[in-house]
Amino acid sequence: MPDSPLSFPPIAMIDLGPAEAAQPLAARPDAIESEGGHTQVAIIGSGPAGLTAAIYAARADLAPIVLGGAAPGGQLMLTSDVENFPGFPEGIQGPELMARFREQAERFGTRIVDQDVDRVDLATRPFQLWARGTRYTADALIVATGASALWLGLDSETRLRGRGVSACATCDGAFFRGKRVAVIGGGDTALEEATFLTRFSPDVLLIHRRDQFRGSRIMQQRAIDHPGIDIRWNTEVAEVLGDGVVEALRLRDTQSGREWEEPIGGVFVAIGYRPNAEVFRDWLPADAAGYLEVEGETGSVIPGVFIAGDVHDHHYRQAITAAADGCKAAMDAERWLDEQAAAPRVAVPSIAAAG
Ligand SMILES: Cc1cc2nc3c(=O)[nH]c(=O)nc-3n(C[C@H](O)[C@H](O)[C@H](O)COP(=O)(O)OP(=O)(O)OC[C@H]3O[C@@H](n4cnc5c(N)ncnc54)[C@H](O)[C@@H]3O)c2cc1C
Repeated sequence: MPDSPLSFPPIAMIDLGPAEAAQPLAARPDAIESEGGHTQVAIIGSGPAGLTAAIYAARADLAPIVLGGAAPGGQLMLTSDVENFPGFPEGIQGPELMARFREQAERFGTRIVDQDVDRVDLATRPFQLWARGTRYTADALIVATGASALWLGLDSETRLRGRGVSACATCDGAFFRGKRVAVIGGGDTALEEATFLTRFSPDVLLIHRRDQFRGSRIMQQRAIDHPGIDIRWNTEVAEVLGDGVVEALRLRDTQSGREWEEPIGGVFVAIGYRPNAEVFRDWLPADAAGYLEVEGETGSVIPGVFIAGDVHDHHYRQAITAAADGCKAAMDAERWLDEQAAAPRVAVPSIAAAG
């Protein structure tokens, strides 16, 4: 590794003039406070997909910038033990795993900026990205902004996250072997998670605030017929109870308002995910649920823009699959850059402009 692998242009301060500068930045979406520099590959997102892409791009001497978000590290920062990521036979804490991803990306020369990208312009190359008033330009872009699990919004739920409250049965179900667990939700994810959890738990409560499920008929029937699943209709969680770990739920009947407590060892919130794709709305097509659409393995409708991880993948949603996607996106970007080395710049219409 060279001593100083990065060679970004110096930051240029643009004089906005006294009148403009007096306005808050948010009121001037086009305002550029400073230049963040140009890179061959910019990566948006610092979860397993983004940081794996960074490791591959950095080792290919592309000196990537990761605009990693105001909450760097991604979803694994919200969990404690990770036992299914290969290479850690004893398991590893989610935040520690992400610190190691980051250290490995930085070791090969990745520059990481812990800020959210609030605007992009993908009309011409180099692509332009803005993060809190700083503009970055890049020849290729990897979008790895992940997804956010939706939570109930209770303080007690936040306090006990990673201590019995989870949003991923595939990831955490095995920790609750022999314990009574609850799944909250009524869509396909909740039905699937409840069925999956019967492998470990003798008693799965499926808590749904309505009197019928939203999920597919076959999944509904499977859950209804399963002897290990106890369905509580018209019921919502009023509070998650427990000191250091989850011990019980206070439930509420949505029709009568009656409240009662149920002892419980673990809670799986399965009320959905929101892909973090809002910033690309005018540029990259998404499906009805907001997940970005991928062309081929990691491509997009815009040549030079690649997509990796949970921002498009609502099927696997695992750190290892997101990391694999990041690897593929970086290799695809590297090859694309090679092919484009002498190509002229082209204008790409935005979805907004076209439609
Ligand atoms: C509670 C919980 C426990 C889990 N446990 C496990 C487990 O044990 N094993 C396992 O394999 N998987 C587990 N998962 C799933 C795993 O965390 C995800 O599949 C994986 O993190 C997805 O990686 P990603 O890089 O695609 O996205 P994410 O991890 O979601 O990372 C996305 C990143 O993009 C950033 N970002 C978003 N918008 C912007 C923007 N506009 N500008 C800049 N940055 C932005 C975010 O801040 C974040 O850093 C768990 C998930 C949850 C919620």
